[in-house]
Amino acid sequence: MIPFNKPVIIGRELAYIAEAVASGKTSGNGPFTQRCQRFFEARYGYTKCLLTTSGTDALEMAAILADIQPGDEVIMPSYTFVSTALAFVRQGAVIVFADSCRDNPNLDADRVEALITPRTKALVPVHYAGVACDMGKIMALAAKHKLLVIADAAHGIDAYYTGRTLPSKFPWHRRLKAKHGRLPLGGIGHLGCFSFHETKNIQCGEGGMLTINDPRFLRRAEIIWEKGTNRADFFRGEVKKYEWVDVGSSFLPSGITAAFLWAQLEALRRVQDKRVALWDAYYAALKPLADRGRLALPQLPPYATNNAHMFYVVCASGDERARLQEHLARAGVQSATHYQSLHDSAYYRDKHRGGALPNCKRFVACLLRLPLFYELELEQVTRIAAAVRRFYGARFAQSSALARGRPGA
Ligand SMILES: *Cc1c(COP(=O)(O)O)cnc(C)c1O
Repeated sequence: MIPFNKPVIIGRELAYIAEAVASGKTSGNGPFTQRCQRFFEARYGYTKCLLTTSGTDALEMAAILADIQPGDEVIMPSYTFVSTALAFVRQGAVIVFADSCRDNPNLDADRVEALITPRTKALVPVHYAGVACDMGKIMALAAKHKLLVIADAAHGIDAYYTGRTLPSKFPWHRRLKAKHGRLPLGGIGHLGCFSFHETKNIQCGEGGMLTINDPRFLRRAEIIWEKGTNRADFFRGEVKKYEWVDVGSSFLPSGITAAFLWAQLEALRRVQDKRVALWDAYYAALKPLADRGRLALPQLPPYATNNAHMFYVVCASGDERARLQEHLARAGVQSATHYQSLHDSAYYRDKHRGGALPNCKRFVACLLRLPLFYELELEQVTRIAAAVRRFYGARFAQSSALARGRPGA
């Protein structure tokens, strides 16, 4: 059986963990944590990065920093992982779920403005599959309505928004663009949240990172990260002793987790190159089916680059997806569905005030993820794609036979 996912292991994880243990610095914000944070700041130009114990925790930190109060409204897609919403629900927010685009599961930026009310506090785009949302439109809405933008970039490592239109109101965008010529996901908007869960491109079991783009949030972010204390000021020698100054929690991962993550970051390019090669192979092999309208493949908008976080197909119906998944299982291939509509979940169903979200509903029913992980081989992708083609070949041979058999056809 080809598994759906196998967490990437690079090989130096245990050596770096041994180094962390030998150094005695195993708690948070030690040498490996700082190395990882500086790696992201140097490579992508983020104003400031803080490692967290998960992507969920990065989102929770962001919701605290955004000062979300009970009754504040937060707009986000319904087609996302529960943590996107949970972080804001914990602050008492009302979640306003928006529909996905027709062609990809990202938030449909053209439908967001109609959802904005005087109580709206933040927009939370999710860069699904590492594909950038239409950040030009989203940031323009944020500027116009004075909203915060917190990007769920859990899938977004090493992916960019290349669109030209971003409002010049946000100075960190100008700085990033001047330095890199394009904007890395997580760097657009006021705050960005990454995940290093074992299912993500780069992983440390459980882990995440908050990018603080708007410098207004820098100091408070460190305080919230350090359990509501000004311990970071103390480390820098700015205060003689540290004390409790705000709310917060233990959001920092241990040095052992950071050591594991460092081994992965050193190999980031190698991991990414491999994933992109596998993704391209899937795309090339399945494109003829998409051209004939049998299924839909991921579509990259002109303003997005591909970080190969995910390869999926969108079937014509839920029934067809179930049959394809069965067919693949018989061919020794594990595939995966995911995301229930959050607006229609057991927890939120009665609280959802908006209407039906048809594009979200279609992706929930019809999207099927195919295996994509570092150790997968090109030859396996060829086999998986052949199995998908056989399924559609048989299915359409059958329906055209039926059509031919129909009286008068
Ligand atoms: C993985 C994921 C998260 C949460 O990350 P964890 O590290 O598992 O807490 C949040 N949002 C999305 C879209 C994700 O895929």
